[in-house]
Amino acid sequence: MNLDKDLKEKFQKIDHRGYLAYKEIKGTYQFKNYIFVIEHVQGDPFASPSQVKIIVNNKNTKIPNKYFDRNHRRIAVQDYLLRKLEILTLKNSFKIKGSGKSGLISVSHCGPEILERSACQICSKNGDVMIRMEIGFPANGRTINAKGLEIIVFEILPEMINTTVAYKNINKEELDNVIQLADNQFFIRNYLKKEELVAFIADGSVLPRESGISSKPLKNAVKFKTPESMKIKIGLPDGSTICGMGIKRGVTLVVGGGYHGKSTLLESFEKGVYDHIAGDGREYVFTDITAVKVRSEDGRGIAGIDISMFINNLPNKKDTIFFETENASGSTSQAANIIEAIEADCKVLLIDEDTSATNFMIRDKLMQLVVTEDKEPITPYIDRIRDLYEIYGISSILVVGSSGEYFDKADSIIQMDEYRAYDITENVKELSTKYKKFEKEKSDKTSFIKEMIFNRTILPYKEWCKEQIKIKVNNIDCLRINKDDIDTRYLEQLVDKEQLRAIGYIIVYINKHIFENKNNLQNLINKAYKELEVNGFDRILEDKFIPCNLAMPRKQEIFMCMNRFRNIRVIK
Ligand code: ADP
Ligand code: MG
Repeated sequence: MNLDKDLKEKFQKIDHRGYLAYKEIKGTYQFKNYIFVIEHVQGDPFASPSQVKIIVNNKNTKIPNKYFDRNHRRIAVQDYLLRKLEILTLKNSFKIKGSGKSGLISVSHCGPEILERSACQICSKNGDVMIRMEIGFPANGRTINAKGLEIIVFEILPEMINTTVAYKNINKEELDNVIQLADNQFFIRNYLKKEELVAFIADGSVLPRESGISSKPLKNAVKFKTPESMKIKIGLPDGSTICGMGIKRGVTLVVGGGYHGKSTLLESFEKGVYDHIAGDGREYVFTDITAVKVRSEDGRGIAGIDISMFINNLPNKKDTIFFETENASGSTSQAANIIEAIEADCKVLLIDEDTSATNFMIRDKLMQLVVTEDKEPITPYIDRIRDLYEIYGISSILVVGSSGEYFDKADSIIQMDEYRAYDITENVKELSTKYKKFEKEKSDKTSFIKEMIFNRTILPYKEWCKEQIKIKVNNIDCLRINKDDIDTRYLEQLVDKEQLRAIGYIIVYINKHIFENKNNLQNLINKAYKELEVNGFDRILEDKFIPCNLAMPRKQEIFMCMNRFRNIRVIK
């Protein structure tokens, strides 16, 4: 292996030469306290920055075992270290000046969710810490400023790395709090599974956010308080007890007046599939990790999915068992979103009337008289919601403030009133029995009993089998792979663009391996995801280097991206 002094020599050789000479320093170098790898060298000062990797042996960090031997602790500690490192990068970035991105030093910017990220990884076996970051190799115009890079690599970085990962420099109290929270979160998630609960919100949680574009907690918010009848107490590993609202499997309805906090409650369930950092307000809010927010999304493309549970007898005899369209309507898109979520292993559907197609949710009695059943292709969600739970085991949490029709279908009903939750299940049942006396029973639609089989066979997409693959992600609204865009605006549970970038690589990987499998979309994604969980990003990237800006997505979002790719070809 090259030594650090070899790199210094190379710096001398390339100083003041044209920018391309930077390519000569690509490689691996043994520094005093770590291995330093230059994995990618940018083509010019304005291109995407260069990428480096630093591997610090556990002998040097001296981080004790207990901080990384269990998965949930390891991920939480990685997240903590990365946040500390980010603060240092902000201090040190652009200390060296020059053209374009000269002097930039950057790592991931973490939001409130705790995610596995390629930027900081601790090996669960030996505790070695791997840091990946971006550096803008400095230049004046297009002339190499190797002295500048020398300062970054030999002065700034060692100091940053030492401050971040050497155990003696880490704030022990903070680090212990991090693993304590991680232990509690891990414990509560397991508890929910055991007790067949789909969600939990601890008393004192802060659900609303500062604004529509901020993920910070709202100041002076009304803190969450559990209705007495829904209260559960959980004894935690650290000896303390936590109280909160547990939501059982089945159908849960959230009602209440406009602006009383219904959507805010549902949004916290959407994000409850992730663990949150201390101080977020939602660190003790949990939802079944497979939960999917489904909404209407007119205009999306749909490729060969069976929506006959909800849609039948379309005009022009359009097939709804193998439904295809380039331009879905509100109701067909919502139906497809539900079926696709189930294909992606979702066990809890989260639905808000604000983002639903009205005719998909409900059809009132008068309308049923005017537009007869044979003229209406849609079987609304209300007529399937019990079957979904009783036959397929899929729970629903839904916000419906505008119609009482759903009351009969619900196992529990929560009313939001001035941001407080009340359990009104019993009162409503009483009221609705009285009300029903005046109503003629409506004939229930026949129950939908059909085995749900998912065997969509897909064809590989030639464009993505090429050697050159470019994945571009500017925000969480769009994933571009070479020349194809996937519209991800409505993936409301995607929280980080690093997740989206990772999905890009996963999709390309899947596409390349289509022939090795039976080409069943569900199998392909499940297999790739397993691979990712067991081997990290390595296998997915194959022989390419792992970029510093990947975060672990959920499996559900991978399905959603695949389903929104307009050139996906599903064989009939
Ligand atoms: P709904 O869906 O019932 O119409 P929202 O959930 O959209 O209501 O909430 C309306 C407003 O109230 C939002 O601006 C939200 O940020 C705010 N809000 C929600 N929950 C709280 C709370 N617990 N404390 C203070 N403000 C809240
Ligand atoms: Mg709302």
